[in-house]
Amino acid sequence: MQNWLTKQVSLNPERIALTVANQSWTFTALQTAVIKIAGQVAALIGTKNQRIAILAKNTPASYMTIMAVQQLGLQPVLLNFRLANNELQRQLQDAGVATLLVDDDLSRNFTEWSKLTGNTYLLSQLHAHQAIEITPVAEFTEDDVASIMYTSGTTGNPHGVLQTYQNHFYSAIGSALNLGLQAHDRWLCAVPLFHISGLSIMMRSLIYGMGVDLVAHFDDVAITKRLTTEPIAIMSVVPTMLKRLLAVAPSAGYNDNFRCFLLGGGPIDPVTLSRCEQQNIAVIQSYGMTETASQIVALNFDDARAKIGSVGKPLFSVQLRLANPEQGIGEIEIKAPNLTRGYLNQAANFARKITNDGWYKTGDLGYLDAEGFLFIKGRQDDMFISGGENIFPDEVEHAYSQYPGIRDIAVVGKSNSDWGMIPVAFVISDDSLDIQALQEFGRNHLAHYKVPVEFIPVNDFPTTASGKIQRHKLRELV
Ligand code: ATP
Ligand code: MG
Repeated sequence: MQNWLTKQVSLNPERIALTVANQSWTFTALQTAVIKIAGQVAALIGTKNQRIAILAKNTPASYMTIMAVQQLGLQPVLLNFRLANNELQRQLQDAGVATLLVDDDLSRNFTEWSKLTGNTYLLSQLHAHQAIEITPVAEFTEDDVASIMYTSGTTGNPHGVLQTYQNHFYSAIGSALNLGLQAHDRWLCAVPLFHISGLSIMMRSLIYGMGVDLVAHFDDVAITKRLTTEPIAIMSVVPTMLKRLLAVAPSAGYNDNFRCFLLGGGPIDPVTLSRCEQQNIAVIQSYGMTETASQIVALNFDDARAKIGSVGKPLFSVQLRLANPEQGIGEIEIKAPNLTRGYLNQAANFARKITNDGWYKTGDLGYLDAEGFLFIKGRQDDMFISGGENIFPDEVEHAYSQYPGIRDIAVVGKSNSDWGMIPVAFVISDDSLDIQALQEFGRNHLAHYKVPVEFIPVNDFPTTASGKIQRHKLRELV
């Protein structure tokens, strides 16, 4: 396919491509800025090494630099700035990267990060460099790697995922066929560009000719104001963002063009979803992963109300099946053109996730209702069996999220001679824990075997740099 940025400039030269606060760039202006940065990259770093790592923030400088690397036919390696230095080191080595670019908004850590590689630059240093003339790639070739991104590391060590132009293309098309597309749609991006939730918005912008409202800091009040006064159609959110936006949602709704919050990234409790429904806030649940270049399953507008709690049906180009279902629940397996072609340097680990007949094993458990809507039960590794009954931590945690004073709860299985495993809860609470009251609450809301036998007060949980609870580390504690 023709280079997507070049193509958009020929199709929609004057359309707004990017808005940050009060500043906007048309596709033409964006291309000019991006090509200039590409010329600076070529001058300062050169194009010999095919990969360049970026510690990005949601700023125009990071946004354009990611695009610039792609315009040179190179691969941006997008790193999470919340990782510890040794974790970053591992990823830089894994990706064979010699150059690290750091957004100026993160300059406070620059000295530390400079130790990671001899070639660490702030984006402003790069941009101060005299650009040389470059020729942007003519084509975005289907199998070429458009981006490299590491999985969150929720279940163990993160894997570097090779995301090709084909992966991004089918992901964007699948989403458009579900959510619709209008000429002047704008999509608010407050999710990080170094996660697939954020980068996929950039890729959609290039494929759809759509405007992106890039927001650097999640501030619920400021974003609500933006959603109310600007003609923004869609905003991607993770569960914690949705909860905070719900708390300050205007009773008169957002602007007239607003279509929905696209929700993904992790499980959400049913109470939050029904509150959204009561307040007439359109939420489209979705399910996906770094390996699939964003959503592969999503609800549609017609079914969102009736199928609340479901993540929807597989998108147009996605096939989905459940492996070895027991009482309807099985491992979710998929086949899709947006599935990565593999992990960087970990071919064997990826091959292990592909079945003999070519389906990708997600490691997530779910069930399909009679009409084919998918409901996620949680990760296979987190599920445990107590007295012959399956226990899904998400379900227990969601029940307790309504308990007054509990700020967060994580449930894991502990081995037990009578039952095989028993449920144990780690709790972050404002109040001291009243075990009897907690168990009574559990028995009123859950089957008795699901009620945690122990409640352990903690100040925080082991989480990934993106805030996901690492239950495998909690399992080691019990
Ligand atoms: P790692 O693969 O390194 O352990 P990770 O799986 O958390 O980390 P991501 O690719 O960021 O890395 O997350 C994808 C996972 O998030 C999915 O496999 C699934 O477990 C979970 N997930 C995504 N969307 C949903 C959803 N709507 N409901 C429940 N879980 C979800
Ligand atoms: Mg994963």
